[in-house]
Amino acid sequence: MKLEFWGAAQEVTGACFLLRANGRRVLVDCGLIQGERSDEARNAEPFPFEPERIDAVLLTHAHLDHSGRLPLLIRSGFKGTIYTHSATCELCEILLEDAGYINEREAEWENRKRERKGLKLLEPLYTRTDARQVKSHFKPLKFNEMTDILPGIRVRLQDAGHILGSAIVEVWLNQGEQHCKLVFSGDLGHRGAPILCDPVAVAEADLVVLESTYGDRLHRAWEATWEEVKQVLQVSQHGGGNILIPAFSVGRAQELLYVFARNYEPWGLRQWHIFLDSPLAIKATGIYQRHQELYDAEARQIGRRQGGLLQLPNLSFTASTEESMALNRICSGAIIIAGSGMCTGGRIKHHLKHNAWRADCHIMIAGFQAHGTLGRQLVDGAHYIRLWGETIRVKAKVHTIGGLSAHADQAGLVDWYGHFRERPKVALVHGEPQAMDSLAKRLTNDFGAEVIIPERGQVSRLAGLR
Ligand code: ZN
Repeated sequence: MKLEFWGAAQEVTGACFLLRANGRRVLVDCGLIQGERSDEARNAEPFPFEPERIDAVLLTHAHLDHSGRLPLLIRSGFKGTIYTHSATCELCEILLEDAGYINEREAEWENRKRERKGLKLLEPLYTRTDARQVKSHFKPLKFNEMTDILPGIRVRLQDAGHILGSAIVEVWLNQGEQHCKLVFSGDLGHRGAPILCDPVAVAEADLVVLESTYGDRLHRAWEATWEEVKQVLQVSQHGGGNILIPAFSVGRAQELLYVFARNYEPWGLRQWHIFLDSPLAIKATGIYQRHQELYDAEARQIGRRQGGLLQLPNLSFTASTEESMALNRICSGAIIIAGSGMCTGGRIKHHLKHNAWRADCHIMIAGFQAHGTLGRQLVDGAHYIRLWGETIRVKAKVHTIGGLSAHADQAGLVDWYGHFRERPKVALVHGEPQAMDSLAKRLTNDFGAEVIIPERGQVSRLAGLR
């Protein structure tokens, strides 16, 4: 029995772990590598294992850094079943289709330049057609149900509270006299986050594979974060312009709509017209609406009271390009939520072109902005930005809301680990080196835990852990 670390090993993205037991092979996550161009180039390389010999995939959640190479796995010969939560199946369908579309567009754009230079044309990483193949491999599961997926391999999903359907995966391996239980945290949610439940505590494991994205940081308290949002709304109200909110389509967009619904009267939201201007976010919102069984107690109550969770009397969904372009003519009183979350693409760029140069407009940054992105330039106080070759002066006021995160912080990760009774061995994944080192020290000091930080390709023997 072995566990091989093939992704998110000493890096944040590209989650991919291979379990070998009882003569079977099970992959946990098959994520896209995201970041610098040189890192992303690794997505096109062949898998370091034989996809046709993988018997099953266990998928923790729909984010592309966990699911985004599934179309490539299937194109490379995988014929097995992908076990995951039913909400993840639905979210994956729209996210992978969107990823396929972006791949096609990027290849087309690059090939136009290559053609002019007489260079060899490129193939997209995968297409929408490849992405659509994933659906037929899904076997939806519910939380907290035991499932025998293969002889000697039993699994159970628990709510991770990170995005809709996100799961902690428990795996029991039995091979002759050898027995072992593994727990994969997937991405763990931020306690007290809107809509979703807190991550479920698990008590037993022989090995825990734990994410460490915020292993060295603490988030601001929720109350302080909501106070900041309220203040942005109040300040903007006096200015008379629009508010732009770049937001990730799955998760952040729905959280914002939810806190707007929850605070509709006290935050004076009836004086605004709110637009969700992203086809992907609109589809994801529909999926969130359908899965009320996954809400926490407060969200259920609000959902019942309002006849739906994300219902606002002045909310419009602008799915079509024409509807989106019509927003360019609105000078005042609009709150526009649009992708992409870091302003690297999508409709938010058009809205920045029409609003960023206006002193009465406001830009509310409500998510993490990576180095080198347009969103990061705005956070860092850029006076000018470049959009489609045009220079735009930034006169709008930029507000950065710090506390919104879909990930547990260091305290959340330490607390979650603290529920394991026998202080099992931990493998830290999905983090920057500094975050992993800091979390490793805490786990060792607080609990005496044995912590490893595996590198890509490292193999852990599972026999003898118990
Ligand atoms: Zn995630």
